[in-house]
Amino acid sequence: MKSVKKAMAILLAAICVLSCLTVCLFVFAEDGETEHTHNYVPVTVIRPTCTEEGLIRYICSCGAVDESQDTPIAATGHRWGPWTIIEEATTEREGLKERTCINDPSHKEYKTIEKVQPSEFSQFFQNIIARFKALFDRIFSLFYRD
Ligand SMILES: [Zn+2]
Ligand SMILES: [Zn+2]
Repeated sequence: MKSVKKAMAILLAAICVLSCLTVCLFVFAEDGETEHTHNYVPVTVIRPTCTEEGLIRYICSCGAVDESQDTPIAATGHRWGPWTIIEEATTEREGLKERTCINDPSHKEYKTIEKVQPSEFSQFFQNIIARFKALFDRIFSLFYRD
């Protein structure tokens, strides 16, 4: 009886070792098969933004990466829409305008608008009004003397 048990144990061990070997061989054979010539395909891994550059990486279908071929993609730069006036400039103070990036609406640019220079025409009238006012003041002071 004891020898039967021993024989069974040896048989079991042998089966174990054999199946292990088979699995190992299978795995190695698989490994051997994946040793192919890599076929690197360009993949955009990082899309460029307005201000930051992107990246093209050459990747094989097996997952291998050829970093020596890494190619940066230049930042696209902002694509500004038209200026919108937020505050009109007057002769007394500067105005403000804004424009928004078409790529990313969170990108905004602001610019002050120079004060409006009074035209020669309006300056001419302002002068006349000032003179009239001075004249009226004088007339008033003549008539309403204390
Ligand atoms: Zn490959
Ligand atoms: Zn932008």
